[in-house]
Amino acid sequence: MRILLQFPEGLKQKALEYAKKIEAEGNEVVISASPTFGACDLAIDEAKHVKADKLVHFGHAEFHHVDFNVEYIPYEMTVDLSILKESLPQLSKFETIGLMTTVQHMHQLDAIAQFYRSNGKAVVIGKPFGFAKQKGQILGCDIGSASGIDKQVDAFVYFGGGLFHPLGALLQTTKPFLVVEPFTGKIEFIDHYRNEYKRRSTGKVLASLKAKKIGILVSTKNGQYNMNLASILKKQVESQGMSAGILVANTFDFDALNNMLEFDAFVNTACPRLAIDDTDRIRKPLLSANELAEVLRIRKEQSAITNLKSKTESS
Ligand code: SF4
Repeated sequence: MRILLQFPEGLKQKALEYAKKIEAEGNEVVISASPTFGACDLAIDEAKHVKADKLVHFGHAEFHHVDFNVEYIPYEMTVDLSILKESLPQLSKFETIGLMTTVQHMHQLDAIAQFYRSNGKAVVIGKPFGFAKQKGQILGCDIGSASGIDKQVDAFVYFGGGLFHPLGALLQTTKPFLVVEPFTGKIEFIDHYRNEYKRRSTGKVLASLKAKKIGILVSTKNGQYNMNLASILKKQVESQGMSAGILVANTFDFDALNNMLEFDAFVNTACPRLAIDDTDRIRKPLLSANELAEVLRIRKEQSAITNLKSKTESS
């Protein structure tokens, strides 16, 4: 069988090691070297191009259904849980905590919950919206396991590496948010990011109010492609007298977008995290669909006020 192997960026260093194991089982193996950020980004076109019978996608669980033979091999990382003890003083005033993690640590979630329960906490584990598959699991674009239990908990605990995943959950919740990072040993509340990102969002909206030309980003990645939304947004933009173009790429290159000087602002329909995490890499505002709605709402109000003033002045 010919197999195409696909690894996320953090696991690419192990590509040859896995390839040799699968070759030893009698398969022919090709390795995808394209950037890969999630299971939304299956290398099906490459697999078809190299006439692979199967795509083996490492590091992520299934995200969406595709018409191709795909095997998912999630990457489990078993880490030492003794760090949890150090989080107890920071959680002392909270009775009920909402617990979440990523697919890498899902197999340890029960043990983490049990630890907090045996230390007097009530633990709530929420359900994802659907892209993530397991209770308590979050993705950059599925934080249902956190937002769905916001009203039931006094604080949240995210267990895992990095800030990418907890940041998405933080921005859609309201309670104190503790990150327990088993790799660096860091335990910290990250609540201050809520205001920071809210300010950034307001800044992007204000900076887009006078935009005349808007670029709408559509990714061809199979789990991100949303041409319907892009077409709706284009009509909405044009209904306010602005010009809009739909811009297509697989992975958006920010240098290439920065070269598209005609556009005054961009709107994202691809991975929702682009308009949150990558705004510093692009010179023009990069809005989410909700931020665009806010821009259009304010422009409408402003135009109504201007019309009213001119009517009053002429009467
Ligand atoms: S859409 Fe974005 S956040 Fe969601 S899985 Fe893909 S890369 Fe991750």
